[in-house]
Amino acid sequence: MEKILKNMMETIVEQRMQDMLPSLDCCKCEQCQMDMRAIVLNKMPAKYVVSTKGELISRVDSLYRQNATDLTAAIVQAAEIVSQNPNPHHEPDSQK
Ligand SMILES: [Zn+2]
Repeated sequence: MEKILKNMMETIVEQRMQDMLPSLDCCKCEQCQMDMRAIVLNKMPAKYVVSTKGELISRVDSLYRQNATDLTAAIVQAAEIVSQNPNPHHEPDSQK
């Protein structure tokens, strides 16, 4: 089986952001979403694992549950930061 090196936190942040996006009061253009992801990932600890793809999915699930509260708080905070300091390259027209 082929092994891959992956920061699982990236996957988890992405999942949680997709879940929360409809309830976030901020611009949702691609640029702003990427900015939010970067802010959240800088706050959360990296979780690098060497694994096969199948193993990864079950690990993501438990890590997601362990970090759900911190993730929610970090994403809400990131949305506030991005709203207050929008990236000059963002495209507000593409939201909604
Ligand atoms: Zn934007």
